[in-house]
Amino acid sequence: MTTVLSPWKSSLLGAYYYATLPGRLWSNEQAARAGSAPVMVIYYHRVADHTPNAWTISNAQFRREINWLQANFDMVSLDEAQRRVREGNDKAAVSITFDDGYAENCEWALPLLVSRRIPCTYFVTSHYVLTGQSFPHDAADGTPLAPNTIEQLASLAAAGIEIGGHTRTHADLGKLTSDSQLRDEIVGGREDLEQTLGIAIRHFAFPYGLHDNLSAAAFHIAADAGFTGVCSAYGGYNLPGDDPFHLQRIHADPEIVRLKNWLTVDPRKVRRTERFQYQRRSDHTLREDMAP
Ligand SMILES: [Zn+2]
Repeated sequence: MTTVLSPWKSSLLGAYYYATLPGRLWSNEQAARAGSAPVMVIYYHRVADHTPNAWTISNAQFRREINWLQANFDMVSLDEAQRRVREGNDKAAVSITFDDGYAENCEWALPLLVSRRIPCTYFVTSHYVLTGQSFPHDAADGTPLAPNTIEQLASLAAAGIEIGGHTRTHADLGKLTSDSQLRDEIVGGREDLEQTLGIAIRHFAFPYGLHDNLSAAAFHIAADAGFTGVCSAYGGYNLPGDDPFHLQRIHADPEIVRLKNWLTVDPRKVRRTERFQYQRRSDHTLREDMAP
């Protein structure tokens, strides 16, 4: 969800960003030389020029952001992001992801990424694709937006976009207490997509993705089921030495100054972000054998 910054807040953030930028660039350079540059994973939901809502960004704004990202970062896949977290990173990197599965993304945004050969992982909630129903939160808003069709997802996969799992029904996994419910959402959602599309689903993104929406049990089920990695969405940097199974993601804000502020590493955000902790079990030490 996004709130539009009021003009004075936007200009305050702009002033803060530009005032602190030289110091950040210097620290980022030092980190890169030491092989500890950040690996940042950002997420979008919907790119469209009509029916804008809190999780929509316009086509023009999306292009502006992609231009800035391409000019300033290594654009990498989630597999490469995990490799850099595991082995070290000498240039700040960004991975692009999308959540949910909105039909309009296929009109303009995803073709742009494909044409520029920018890696992307597209996390889909299987029930809505299979039934064609719109998301309940959109229907409740009076804007029943179309989910992707199976044909669209098959074309995306054929064009090199990675399709990922985002549960079966977009459940809040932090609220589910039984393993069978969690398995149904996490593994069942993957099976739906794998059977329908005939491809392997290897990464998973938690719906909502804030600390309260995660659970250690869900992490274990995803790892035991053979997922290569999982993504949260509460904001946070991934640094070499962190647990590469869990990629913390940052909201791809339609306000480009906020996105720039995040991705050039705001020291205030580094301090404030608390990494979600779950007990890693020795029997699923990351399944590195499954990584390509
Ligand atoms: Zn979602």
